[in-house]
Amino acid sequence: MSDPDKGPAIEVAGVHKHFGRVHAVRGVDLAVRQGEFFGLLGPNGAGKSTLINILAGLTHPDQGRAAICGYDVIANYRKARRALGVVPQEVVFDPFFTVREVLAIQAGYFGLKGPDNKAWREELLAALMLTDKGDANMRTLSGGMKRRVLIAQALVHRPRVVILDEPTAGVDVELRASLWVFIRRLHAEGHTIVLTTHYLEEAEALCERIAIMQGGGIAALDTKEAMLRRARSKTLRVTIAGPAAVIPPQLALKLRKRTDTTLEFALQQGSDSIPEVLDALRAAGHVVTDITTEQANLEEVFLELTHRRISPPDGLSPDPALPAA
Ligand code: ADP
Ligand code: MG
Repeated sequence: MSDPDKGPAIEVAGVHKHFGRVHAVRGVDLAVRQGEFFGLLGPNGAGKSTLINILAGLTHPDQGRAAICGYDVIANYRKARRALGVVPQEVVFDPFFTVREVLAIQAGYFGLKGPDNKAWREELLAALMLTDKGDANMRTLSGGMKRRVLIAQALVHRPRVVILDEPTAGVDVELRASLWVFIRRLHAEGHTIVLTTHYLEEAEALCERIAIMQGGGIAALDTKEAMLRRARSKTLRVTIAGPAAVIPPQLALKLRKRTDTTLEFALQQGSDSIPEVLDALRAAGHVVTDITTEQANLEEVFLELTHRRISPPDGLSPDPALPAA
């Protein structure tokens, strides 16, 4: 069972991992198909990076098994690792190497020393807009550039499966946009992509299927469309003119935000009717001049599923580590 063209790109079965008393991954089962663009979301401390480290063979699970393209990550470590490129969450480099040296060393790990790989490394530098930084020492690069080197490093051996652990955390908007383009290109070229991100709109824009991890387990796993349909609410924004009027009592509970000129209601899909809301407003003396509606987005689904806001990147908030079991 090791034909990399068949079967799932990633397979995880019954995986558990403890760090002391912290049960970081608790019984995860997961299969990611070849060529899929898969999102792995969840609050800080959910166990995403631990699961990724297990896939990369950096951490061994206490229980269960994991495979990349059919290769067991422990029993068949070399083949599994050859099929996988991981862009880690933490940026750690030897500051004395240049960008080209970092990539050449990585190629060396995989025994790729020929001119073909050298040409590929130059292609990666160009695609990631690093060509003119190729001979710069790592320590002279900005955070965003280091992150791009990390991506190039993960791709040096042309892995079939690429896992990016928060590649855009703390990266400016412009670079994020160019990374999206690059990651989309990798996917279009046939790579299986797994992306973890703090930016839910990023997962919404890019991923075909999404798993939400929480407390070491998978709280939800579905196609993006089905995930979005889980959202129970929809936003109705009403622009009003004229003198302030009271909000009818039957709408008060649905009112989420109010300014002098706008009212924002959270409507339950299926049960609340927009015409009824507008009729009630008019009956109370409001003059409605415009309305817009907005479907729930992934952020709202995420909040409903996890009851917590996804934490900002870069340690802006303390890591809410799992309580000791
Ligand atoms: P995520 O990537 O979803 O933020 P992590 O996998 O990094 O989550 O962490 C899951 C839990 O495991 C957290 O409680 C974290 O503090 C703990 N943890 C992760 N790595 C280690 C480690 N090397 N030693 C001890 N605890 C760890
Ligand atoms: Mg992480």
